[in-house]
Amino acid sequence: MNNDEPTTLNEENWKVESLPYSEDVQVYGFLQLCADRRFHRDIQERFQKDARLSSPLDYWIHADAGGAPMMLGLTTAPSYCYGEKGVRLMGWSAHGDICGGFPPGTSNEEIKTALLRAVEIQVKRYKEATHFVYFATLKKEGDTEETVVYSMICGKGAKSYAQAG
Ligand SMILES: [Zn+2]
Repeated sequence: MNNDEPTTLNEENWKVESLPYSEDVQVYGFLQLCADRRFHRDIQERFQKDARLSSPLDYWIHADAGGAPMMLGLTTAPSYCYGEKGVRLMGWSAHGDICGGFPPGTSNEEIKTALLRAVEIQVKRYKEATHFVYFATLKKEGDTEETVVYSMICGKGAKSYAQAG
C-alpha cells in the first residue's frame, strides 16, 4: 500500500482551500430539474427570463433523476424555500430523449404528461406561488439537432408573467 495516498476518511486527510466568499443574497426562486446535465443551461436561462431573475444566485436548484415528476416526495427543499425564504417563483421541469429517472422505453409524451400531473400537485401545495413549467428535449431534423424547450406559466400571478419571446 502506498502511504502517500490517503485511504481513510480521517480529519487530517481534509484538503483545505480558501476562496472568495459569494455573498448570500435574497432567494426569489426555486427550480427543480433532472440531474441530467444536458438541458440544465437551457431550462435555467428560460426560467430566469420568464421569472425575471437576473442571475443564477437568485434561485435555488433542486436536481435528481427524473426531475419534477419523480421528485414529488422530496419536499424539504421546495417547502423550505416557500415557507422559510418566502419564495414565490417556482419552476418545475423534466426532459425527454431518454431520461435515466424513468423506466427504459418511457416516451417523451409520457414524461411530459407526468410533469403536468406533478405540477398540478405542486400548485395545490404552494398556493401563493407562480409556477413555471419546462419540458426540454432533443429535436432531430435531418442532420441538425437542437434543443426545444416547451414552457407554461400557471398559478397565482401567472398572467403578470406573460412569456417573453
Ligand atoms: Zn433525466
